[in-house]
Amino acid sequence: MCAVVGVYGSQNASKIAYYALFAMQHRGQESTGISAADGKSIKVVKHRGLVTDVFDEKSFEILEGECAIGHNRYSTAGKDSVLDAQPVFARYKLGEISVVHNGNLTNKNEVRNSLIERGAIFQTDMDTENIVHLIAKSRENHLIDRIKDMIRKIEGAYCLIIQSRSKMFVIRDRYGIRPLSIGRLEDGGYIVASETCAFDLVGAKFIRDVKPGELLIFENAKEPYSEMLFEPDYRPCAFEYIYFARPDSIIDGKNVYETRVKMGKILALEQPADVDLVIPVPDSGVAAALGFAEGVETRFEMGIVRNHYVGRTFIEPTQQIRDLKVKLKLSPIKYLIENRKIAIVDDSLVRGTTSRRIVGMLRSAGAKEVHMRIAAPEIKYPCRYGIDTPTKDELISNSKNPQEIADYIGADSVGFLSLDGLNEALGRERRYSLVSFDGNYFAGGCADSPECRSVD
Ligand code: 5GP
Ligand code: MG
Repeated sequence: MCAVVGVYGSQNASKIAYYALFAMQHRGQESTGISAADGKSIKVVKHRGLVTDVFDEKSFEILEGECAIGHNRYSTAGKDSVLDAQPVFARYKLGEISVVHNGNLTNKNEVRNSLIERGAIFQTDMDTENIVHLIAKSRENHLIDRIKDMIRKIEGAYCLIIQSRSKMFVIRDRYGIRPLSIGRLEDGGYIVASETCAFDLVGAKFIRDVKPGELLIFENAKEPYSEMLFEPDYRPCAFEYIYFARPDSIIDGKNVYETRVKMGKILALEQPADVDLVIPVPDSGVAAALGFAEGVETRFEMGIVRNHYVGRTFIEPTQQIRDLKVKLKLSPIKYLIENRKIAIVDDSLVRGTTSRRIVGMLRSAGAKEVHMRIAAPEIKYPCRYGIDTPTKDELISNSKNPQEIADYIGADSVGFLSLDGLNEALGRERRYSLVSFDGNYFAGGCADSPECRSVD
């Protein structure tokens, strides 16, 4: 998962991109970067680390120009090194380009191998580099035609922002799997960003979502040119609503916070618990726990405190560090928990590491009963469209049923939201990408590999 932003036609383009990336830090903490174009050339500043660590006043002296694109990285393809930071910049026959990408290409290796056959060399393992090569290798005379050529060759999930020295191109895949919205800045410029929470910070007005299959071209002071490259087949990712997006964002017309509360309410109907107290796993479970508490008409308390100076637990790659980090991150308020029956609500259960630790923590704090409630269905399949879920074997719900999971994490019971309940919370007006739950790899890839042919 990653964040992308593009700013066009603004005097403060790179600073606005910076604040937008700051607002979207939750979407990726490994590395960050901005490139800016002033009509004559493109300049890039990127590095490992958080937005506030990577950029300083000097960066903005480098990043001049009225168009800036930026990226926060959360690795799904490629390694965690500075080479893997985006934007990916290149010089090619027609000049200079810079690319940022959120998503995951399901035919990455196939495309890469055929490029390598034809003599291409790669610096990284990232699918974004494929995109740059495909554009550079195309025989078309205009960048726009080269971009279209490239799009015809890639499959999977992508929100792309491509910058030339004077234009900005924006493309969302035909399913609209990852979110992408357009806003208008106070100075008349445009902003495109993964989440609307970025607009709120920089004072931009939301215009609309980029349509699935849409290509937008920003050029001069004109309204962006729009063209549909594909017939839309809207299937936004349900996991954005469950976990990934910030609760103050609105994705494809749906308020993330409100949807999470609804998931909790439906969970209460499907998996009630006779308890004294409902406690969320902070921060990701808070909205769903509020809905759950309302649903079961039980007192809600913030019975677990989170230390905010620790990053998200999945960022560290080794299991040993992951275990330690959960302890560093969360601690219980004992007097609330002692001798009480507790329902503990989280947004999702992946490997079971967090819940196991939390249940243990509640038991040591004297809880009489601990009932785990998860405001998402059982995650049985790896996402191949940009969410960094582990392999099938590491997913606890792939091998254990709720009773076995309860035994494993030490809870009195475990209850999940049903797939139908999730659809109810999301609304029935459109389909969603539910691949982690139903294993329908409609955009390519499969459970065993990021790359196999699509199933429908
Ligand atoms: P588990 O400990 O079961 O492996 O993971 C469950 C926890 O991870 C939940 O609290 C959930 O909020 C969080 N989570 C779910 N998906 C992701 C993800 O893609 N990235 C990160 N950093 N956390 C996740
Ligand atoms: Mg969490």
